[in-house]
Amino acid sequence: MWPTADLRSDTMTAPTPAMRQAMAAAEVGDDVWGEDPTVRRLEERGAALLGKPAALFLPSGTMANQVAIHVHCRPGDELICEERSHVYCFEGGAVARLSGTQVQPLRAADGFPGRDQVAAAVRADDPHFPRSRLLVIENTHNMAGGRVASVARVRALCEVARQHGMKVHVDGARLYNAAVALAVEPAALVAEVDSTTLCLSKGLGAPVGSLLAGGEEFVAAARRARKAFGGGMRQAGVLAACGLLALGEAEERLAADHRRARELAAGLAELPWAKVDVEATETNIVMLEPGVDDVEPLLQALERQQVRAARAGAHRIRFVFHRDLPEDAVARCLAVCRAFRTGVPA
Ligand SMILES: *Cc1c(COP(=O)(O)O)cnc(C)c1O
Repeated sequence: MWPTADLRSDTMTAPTPAMRQAMAAAEVGDDVWGEDPTVRRLEERGAALLGKPAALFLPSGTMANQVAIHVHCRPGDELICEERSHVYCFEGGAVARLSGTQVQPLRAADGFPGRDQVAAAVRADDPHFPRSRLLVIENTHNMAGGRVASVARVRALCEVARQHGMKVHVDGARLYNAAVALAVEPAALVAEVDSTTLCLSKGLGAPVGSLLAGGEEFVAAARRARKAFGGGMRQAGVLAACGLLALGEAEERLAADHRRARELAAGLAELPWAKVDVEATETNIVMLEPGVDDVEPLLQALERQQVRAARAGAHRIRFVFHRDLPEDAVARCLAVCRAFRTGVPA
């Protein structure tokens, strides 16, 4: 049997042997009491990397986003985001459940609404309307296929938000991927925003955890909200130790994932039936539209060769690259896809 190539998500990684050693050796304390030295080191490192005064370690990217939204918004406020955003579609309705805040979703093909679109969505100051409080930018944008917003685009969106008295939060689950794709520092992509997350457990390969960075006051408020949401962890240094290792290897790691994603996209683009945008494959995500009513037969054909991909809508398949894939993952995907529709088994 071949080793499985699990491309369903970049969360499908196991801690490396070095991470397991680091966990065993990690110096720990009670982090709710502020006494875990390894968590503190990770938070300091995260703040520096993201160019913010402070950062907080949380159990998940979802909690990091929702804590940020909770700090920025009051009940009855409105946040603006792209309509396929994680905060809106994939966090269990938490914006409403946990913060009593509503969402105004905007459509943008590449995941990033334009300045004018955002400006037009801002509510007038009138008792009929919710208050437009927060703009959320997802960079990279997952459902748009890992698309990247440049420094200039983020800056333009921050400008329009500022003009209307709104805060800006970046869902940076894959912010490091964006930075690597653009060859800029992660901090450059969030220089003007009020808060940003960074997932350690996606392409960076740590088993658990996300960072949330922002100003001192913001992070102090986020620390309170994290406790209220049940995210205060005790000897979390065992997890933070993996996060520190993951950050140390990030650039080379992610660049390799991006190369392989491009390679797969280019190979798929040669198939007459496959709709895949090679130029839009900017990071570690490949979106394939096989031009069929149901993607299930193709998913099953992949599965028979121990390749796992995920359904991303009725007509679309998502492949996500990460560190734990066998060498021949791209070749195997391509072989199955080439055979698909020709009737010749891979
Ligand atoms: C995975 C992801 C998150 C949330 O991360 P979890 O750690 O799985 O809660 C947030 N935003 C985006 C864009 C993601 O892909």
